[in-house]
Amino acid sequence: MVEANLEANLENFQVCDRDLDEATLARYQGAEAIAIDTETMGLVLGRDRLCLVQLCDPDGYVTAIRIALGQREAPNLKALLESPQITKIFHYARFDVAQLKYTFGIETNPIFCTKIASKLARTYTGSHGLKTLVQELTGIELDKTSQSSDWGNPDNLSPAQLAYAANDVRYLIGMRSQLTTMLQREGRWELADRCFTALPLFVDLDIMQFKDVFEHR
Ligand code: MN
Repeated sequence: MVEANLEANLENFQVCDRDLDEATLARYQGAEAIAIDTETMGLVLGRDRLCLVQLCDPDGYVTAIRIALGQREAPNLKALLESPQITKIFHYARFDVAQLKYTFGIETNPIFCTKIASKLARTYTGSHGLKTLVQELTGIELDKTSQSSDWGNPDNLSPAQLAYAANDVRYLIGMRSQLTTMLQREGRWELADRCFTALPLFVDLDIMQFKDVFEHR
């Protein structure tokens, strides 16, 4: 088992404040796909604010954007996430896409979600967390000890927090290829693609706090 190395993973890594800088936006706009993750104060949309947005391109170049208290706009990030020719890859897109729409009005599209892909392809297991998925598909063991930590003071993030944040986006692009191959083999690629297309609807229902509108009760 290879442990994700902190020093190695802080190479090819930069921190931006409030938004992507122009040069990084231009770099990422040339990519076919971008991996994204967010860190927040918690999991309750509308209560728990967005603190950090991490992005990674196919070359493994990671940017962590520190979001300021009360910030409601990030125009360069919005341009990238709404760019129709770039696939935005998340693990559990439903949460991050809702947080980005709620905070900045970003309509992320198109989307690939590695958690949905895993649920549709890896029916031999009930484990679809990022750590398990990265372990199975890449052999790398993610250190998740910073998962529940204070992201609310982004000027003082520890090296361990930054390494954790970077690792959450570093493996998504590669895993998309592997999961796509599995989905195609199992005849479920089209179903997955329809799930990804439906994600903005689930996000809008989540933002409006509708629960279970598809359920009988
Ligand atoms: Mn994360």
